[in-house]
Amino acid sequence: MIMKTLTKILKYVLLPLLIIIVVVLFYISIGFGKLDFKDDFPVTEDYSELFPESYEIARDDFRTLSAELHATYENVQYYPMWVASEKDTDLTIDICYIPAQGDSLNLLILSSGVHGVEGYVGHAAQQLFLENYLSEEFLQNTGVLLIHAVNPYGFKYTRRVTENNVDMNRNSPSTPDLYDTRNEGYTQVYDLINPQKRVRTGSLENRFFFVKAINEIRKASLPVLRQAVLQGQYTYAEGLYFGGQGPEPQIELLRPVISEISLPYERIMMLDLHTGYGERGKLHLFPNPMEDEERRKLESMFDGFEIDWGDTDDFYTVTGDFVGFVGALSPHKEYYPMLIEYGTLNSQTTMGSLKSIHIMILENQGQQHGFASKKDSLRVKGNLREMYYPESENWRNYVMHQTRDVFDVVLPRFIGQE
Ligand SMILES: [Zn+2]
Repeated sequence: MIMKTLTKILKYVLLPLLIIIVVVLFYISIGFGKLDFKDDFPVTEDYSELFPESYEIARDDFRTLSAELHATYENVQYYPMWVASEKDTDLTIDICYIPAQGDSLNLLILSSGVHGVEGYVGHAAQQLFLENYLSEEFLQNTGVLLIHAVNPYGFKYTRRVTENNVDMNRNSPSTPDLYDTRNEGYTQVYDLINPQKRVRTGSLENRFFFVKAINEIRKASLPVLRQAVLQGQYTYAEGLYFGGQGPEPQIELLRPVISEISLPYERIMMLDLHTGYGERGKLHLFPNPMEDEERRKLESMFDGFEIDWGDTDDFYTVTGDFVGFVGALSPHKEYYPMLIEYGTLNSQTTMGSLKSIHIMILENQGQQHGFASKKDSLRVKGNLREMYYPESENWRNYVMHQTRDVFDVVLPRFIGQE
């Protein structure tokens, strides 16, 4: 009788369980494959010529358009600012400033490439704006400042961070004590996100990264991980999400330029362009947490569009963000800061967010410790580029389509020509 029951359990419970485990393990062990999406977003227009193949091409296009604007409107300033580098003598942030042609009331700032490699799509949105929205009428009471490639090194060499491994969106100071910030949670996840060896994408730990990560999440809890990730850290210079130990050269270059240009204006709207976060193909409006009154003003400015305030139950602090830095340069003005994020890997899902972080871990690991083979290097770098600059033409057209929807409504509202 007992034997019979045992056999039954074995046959009907354990065996299927074993099969499920094997299937699941096989599925998640597919680990670090090529990213492959079959996009089918509804698009009518073709924006593909806005998307550049390289940093140099993007910069040339931006300069050409700036020169045309210089010939069209009064007092347009455009110039490159060289960023100090040990590896490359031709890395520039390019500025194009078109002052208000009448009263200086509103200033619109559009910035791209704060996270270098995200500059491709940021560039496309800047070009879209310059080609479609500028006019005598638009510029009547409104000036426009475009900052092209805040992190040109990352843009050119396909990294999110700067040459010093610094995340510019954690390095931009609103207060001088930024770099003393301690991120206690980071220490707990340090080993998981910073493996100290060469990258071998086919290794067991990479094949089973998801199992390992989920085990860490179980130990450290999701809020701790999220804090470690979102806040950034100022301690480990080789580590992921490093915010630096002082301002990057870009900050010192941009501080006087932005301060001076902002000076005459009363209201400033800043749109900082990013990719990689959120649902694939979706334009997310993703501001930092802020005071209730500011929040209401921003909500009415973007009325009609969904704003992603994050999970308000889980409070987290973000330090060193670029729009915060720009706002702090003009503390007594009406300020509308907004991050625009174009989603690529469905990072709102657990699998998507683990995939995203796995790509970032391997990319930084390879940078710090090297790759086991050329193939590993190509694989990891290819995935990083795809994560921040999808090849899919359908994706590209769709995000520009949504950008037009937002610009069409919000820009006239901001400049009072609704
Ligand atoms: Zn970004």
